Amino acid sequence: MTPPGRSGRPPGPRYQGRIAALATRHGKESLIAPALAPCGLRVVVADVDTDAFGTFTGEIPRRGDPVQVAERKARAAMAAAGTDAGLASEGSFGPHPAAPFLTADLEFVVLVDDRHGITVAEQALSFDTAAAAVTLRPGEDVGRFCAQVGFPGQALICRPGDGTRDHITKAITTPGALRTAVDLAARGSRDGTAIVETDLRAHLCPTRRAVISQAARRLAERLGRTCPACARPGYGASRHEPGLPCGQCGLPSQAPAATITWCSACGFQQRETATGAADPAGCEFCNP
Ligand SMILES: [Zn+2]
Ligand SMILES: [Zn+2]
Repeated sequence: MTPPGRSGRPPGPRYQGRIAALATRHGKESLIAPALAPCGLRVVVADVDTDAFGTFTGEIPRRGDPVQVAERKARAAMAAAGTDAGLASEGSFGPHPAAPFLTADLEFVVLVDDRHGITVAEQALSFDTAAAAVTLRPGEDVGRFCAQVGFPGQALICRPGDGTRDHITKAITTPGALRTAVDLAARGSRDGTAIVETDLRAHLCPTRRAVISQAARRLAERLGRTCPACARPGYGASRHEPGLPCGQCGLPSQAPAATITWCSACGFQQRETATGAADPAGCEFCNP
């Protein structure tokens, strides 16, 4: 525990006694609540139809960037639960900007805090996405695909091979249900095939759950830091500048030489210079 500061602010986590309503129908409370507990924030689930804000699988398109969508969901949760703080998360799968041939999972967790007048977002990125699909006919062996994606821990979706939007089965978690779903989809498809793919909704996708947890832990860290200018919580890194000298050859590395920290509430920013040297193991000049 930190001792009372000279400012007279009481010790203890900044959000002690506060309650945040979380918008989820996909079991995200088990990921987000433990991560935010060190801040003192208690998380309650609010009954909000999060699919109305856009679905992960794309049936309902999302309007705006992921942080804006998450903020709208958090506000709906606050309205439903009658709290002055709300939480939501939003994820997307797509090509990574720096490596377009790789699929990345980018997850955001957002806290809206009306008592402090702030909206704080954090993110986590992973290339371990479990996004995969296979096309097959009834009776064909799907065991290898199932092993590759980690079924049944990772749930599956089955749809007709010709793109028909009927005869789709989601949240498949048993071999029997998978066989039934493949038969149904293949019968409904003009070419007699079925597409089996991973169900990437958060409650059915262990790899996504790990990334959401990581984003939530980063959010907790950010909420633990206050802005030097306005003293509101949620201060932290906004970007890094690479170029920290390599410990062996002294040339600039990809490791951060400076971090720009930023307050989303008042806009104050600072440049924090890194000290020391970069690990030569990651140097592209002396250890390519
Ligand atoms: Zn500030
Ligand atoms: Zn080097």
